[in-house]
Amino acid sequence: MLWEVMIVGAGPAGSMVALHLASQGHRVLLIDKQRFPRDKICGDGLIPDAIRCLQRAGLYEKVSKVGWKTKKITAFSPSRIRFEVPGDFLTVKRLIFDEILAREAVSRGVTFCQGTVQTISRDSDGTVRASFSESPRQVRARIGIIATGADISLLKNLGMVSQPRASAVALRCYVRSSFNLDQLVISFDCSIIPGYAWIFPVGGEEYNVGCGMAYRDGVKTRGNLKEIFHNFVTEFPLARELMKQGKILTPLQGALLRCGLKGSHPFKDGNLLAIGETIGATFPFTGEGIGKAMETGELAASIVHQSLVKGNFEYLREFPRLLEEELRPRYWGYQVAENWLSKAWLNDLIARRARKSRFLQNAFAGIITETVDPQTIFSVRGILKSLWM
Ligand SMILES: Cc1cc2nc3c(=O)[nH]c(=O)nc-3n(C[C@H](O)[C@H](O)[C@H](O)COP(=O)(O)OP(=O)(O)OC[C@H]3O[C@@H](n4cnc5c(N)ncnc54)[C@H](O)[C@@H]3O)c2cc1C
Repeated sequence: MLWEVMIVGAGPAGSMVALHLASQGHRVLLIDKQRFPRDKICGDGLIPDAIRCLQRAGLYEKVSKVGWKTKKITAFSPSRIRFEVPGDFLTVKRLIFDEILAREAVSRGVTFCQGTVQTISRDSDGTVRASFSESPRQVRARIGIIATGADISLLKNLGMVSQPRASAVALRCYVRSSFNLDQLVISFDCSIIPGYAWIFPVGGEEYNVGCGMAYRDGVKTRGNLKEIFHNFVTEFPLARELMKQGKILTPLQGALLRCGLKGSHPFKDGNLLAIGETIGATFPFTGEGIGKAMETGELAASIVHQSLVKGNFEYLREFPRLLEEELRPRYWGYQVAENWLSKAWLNDLIARRARKSRFLQNAFAGIITETVDPQTIFSVRGILKSLWM
């Protein structure tokens, strides 16, 4: 059987492109190496870009029913200066979230297949062929989409990777605690520099607690993540209190992140696309990537639909340009924030000003909802402006 579209990886990127294409009547095969529900190491936080994506897919009601909602993030600078960023945020365990998406794709007509894709190749007639590591079976499609997250082995074999090293690494565990925390907490505490850490309530007295660290210029910044986690839960007052009244439910587990919309090519050979974290769709600095993974899925769905309807695969060549136009500007501010806020003194200065400056408060809220250009803050002009506004 020749599928119209074959998608490898049923995370947020893969399931989102699959469900949009199936909704438009296309024959779609969605492949994942894991049986669902499956866990994914993550902070489980959904920021406004993810929420908007779910709304466009008609899935927000379903997801928010099983999620935990809040209207603010509280951030702490290295010297523990606290400031709040308002917005609509949601947390949902990935075990649940990813299954909702994959199931929705299936209910809209997608065929789900469990198997580890070992190779992707092109036949002489141009069709895409996938082979599996567990069995001799093979599948073929007119268009192939790779959405395998931080695992770039398929892309590497296809020569689609320009930077094999990941951008960051992070780990997390779940904690049950009677300590009552009703907001998302992000900390750049001096006890964990060069890392950052979070406490995200996920409902039912459970918390996703973790920390991460960026690799700068391809070199891992000094520090051991497990040590950073230990320092966070013993030194940072809110985390210490949470742990005092609770217990760790799951082992600390880590995973790599690919950030900044770079490191891989999103298009190859006329009918192969890559989306989500495989092409570095995760935001630098915060490590939030679910929303942008789904957005790359939406963009891929629109261009694949157009190509199939018009019977002209030349449209697929536009995918890299579409990504650049629609998404590239969103990454700029997060990259600058990562560079600036990793400097403790600047992080403290901005946090101190953010407590008083209405201009900075509005700008932070606007950056998260993507209604304000990040240069509003992250520029010399922006910093100077925050000193008097
Ligand atoms: C510790 C940590 C905390 C994070 N916290 C947040 C957060 O709070 N909010 C947020 O928005 N983002 C967060 N992220 C980032 C987020 O997890 C990713 O951006 C997101 O999962 C990317 O989605 P994706 O669909 O591209 O890939 P994934 O979700 O990784 O999905 C890829 C899928 O491909 C499958 N696969 C891989 N290889 C193959 C193969 N060869 N054959 C078949 N299937 C295959 C995998 O089984 C998987 O299901 C965090 C990341 C980490 C590591």
